Amino acid sequence: MDLNSIVRPNILNLKPYSCARDEYGGGNATVFLDANESPYNSPLNRYPDPLQRELKREIAKVKGVSEDCIFVGNGSDEAIDIIFRIFCIPGTDNVTAIEPTYGMYRVCADINNVEYRAVPLNDDYSLNSERLLAATDRNTKAIFLCTPNNPTGNSLDRGEILKIINRLNGIVVVDEAYGDFSSLPSFREDIKGKNNLIVLNTMSKAWAAAGIRLGMAFADNAIIHLMNKVKYPYNVSRLSQKEALAILKEKERTSNWIKTTLAERERVTRQFSQLPICIRLFPTDANFFLARVTSAQRVYNYLVQRGIVVRNRDKIALCNDCLRITIGNEEENNALIDALKSYEE
Ligand SMILES: *Cc1c(COP(=O)(O)O)cnc(C)c1O
Repeated sequence: MDLNSIVRPNILNLKPYSCARDEYGGGNATVFLDANESPYNSPLNRYPDPLQRELKREIAKVKGVSEDCIFVGNGSDEAIDIIFRIFCIPGTDNVTAIEPTYGMYRVCADINNVEYRAVPLNDDYSLNSERLLAATDRNTKAIFLCTPNNPTGNSLDRGEILKIINRLNGIVVVDEAYGDFSSLPSFREDIKGKNNLIVLNTMSKAWAAAGIRLGMAFADNAIIHLMNKVKYPYNVSRLSQKEALAILKEKERTSNWIKTTLAERERVTRQFSQLPICIRLFPTDANFFLARVTSAQRVYNYLVQRGIVVRNRDKIALCNDCLRITIGNEEENNALIDALKSYEE
């Protein structure tokens, strides 16, 4: 694919803002009088590294991706929005996505005035690449796929995703926000030799750091270059970069949290599936599960009264009477199950 042929002309021609710390690439300077910062209150007086180099070195190690194939953003939501702004001409282009899926793709499309084409998954939430590709046209600049998918929890078939990557003359975004909970291989490996694939990941889920707002995108260097050009210069704060670095260095701790969550998921789903309210519990590869219950609204209200909040997905396509429930710690999960055991219609 000719990447430049699908980039908005104004972005291709964009001369990005050049900040003081961009021009100074490191070295042995000690006196910084280049950015109108205060000399007081070190180190917070200093702007953060716009390219997050130290953090990317650690991400590269942990994720096995070369540093120049990594974009770091203010949550993966920033990466999603930037993809629209690089590729989609407002009022002309469109994106296509599976349905049901993560709500931010549509919100970003609406904000950017880009048509959003939602293509339903099969009834069992599996992906039909032909149906998705049939909904595209020459103005389709991106397809959004989420695996494991939110809110359904299942992983999409790798072969079907590869067919889409190989056939679309546009960007394929594979959102792996929950990939750390899955035993399937990541699409990170596939960015080599494919210049239309962007893989998203985040520190908000398995890394237990939603509060610092740290998202990542992995892609061919040509795409990363465009993303860096369009992002705000200092898009990730010094505090977030520092915290993210510290968290990534505690890889062992995160693996243990993931193991515990997966064991709890086994236990909770087993118990939930035996409850009288449970009509169907869908297979999950993530840190949550989707279940169809007798009445999603009534069970939801009942749980709220008990101080337990789950996500009612009843109004979402293919999810009537479904609740999406996050796996908490043992105590929280017990509170959920105990409450539901005493639920009466
Ligand atoms: C939670 C989630 C994210 C995370 O977004 P951040 O902005 O990184 O917090 C991304 N994609 C999906 C599908 C999610 O469910």
